[in-house]
Amino acid sequence: MGRYDSHKKTFIIETIWAIFAFKTQTKIKMKTILSNMLLVLAFISFQACGQKKMETNKMENLPKTEAEWKAKLSEEEYYILRQKGTERPYTGAFLMHNEKGVYTCKGCGAPLFSSNSKFDSHCGWPSFDKELKAGVIKETVDNTLGMRRVEITCGKCGGHLGHVFDDGPTETGLRYCVNSVSIGFEPVKKDKKIKE
Ligand SMILES: [Zn+2]
Repeated sequence: MGRYDSHKKTFIIETIWAIFAFKTQTKIKMKTILSNMLLVLAFISFQACGQKKMETNKMENLPKTEAEWKAKLSEEEYYILRQKGTERPYTGAFLMHNEKGVYTCKGCGAPLFSSNSKFDSHCGWPSFDKELKAGVIKETVDNTLGMRRVEITCGKCGGHLGHVFDDGPTETGLRYCVNSVSIGFEPVKKDKKIKE
């Protein structure tokens, strides 16, 4: 056994002894510390559980069945968002709306369009030339009414928004034609720039 190993051995024995001695001397103290530590641990895990539960609830807040959607939405919102209805042209609340902010999904609150992408298309529905972020809008080919159109739905909750056409007058060439009933609006906070 080398000198180093022997030193190491002594050190280990001394350490174990020190721990043992410390433990015996302060048995009661240790007990208190340990039980306090357990209490803290229990509290931390309780907090973590609570947080996890809250996060799950946030996701679970979305209705799962059509009956739940019906209970959550107004009759008109249900008809358009869940049954793919269309509001009458030139009647929507957001058609002539020009405030700065973000348009959100009426079904789940997901941000969908920036007011920067809104333009007057004269088609009777609020129109945007791009989605707020890639993927927030889902596109599906829609062959109803004897036409081939591309339906747009909320990427998060699947709520029907309207249709997208490739005849837009801006550089994107797109026209997202959206029912006012399908969307909500969050005005931009003062001295805060909105994202494109
Ligand atoms: Zn949604």
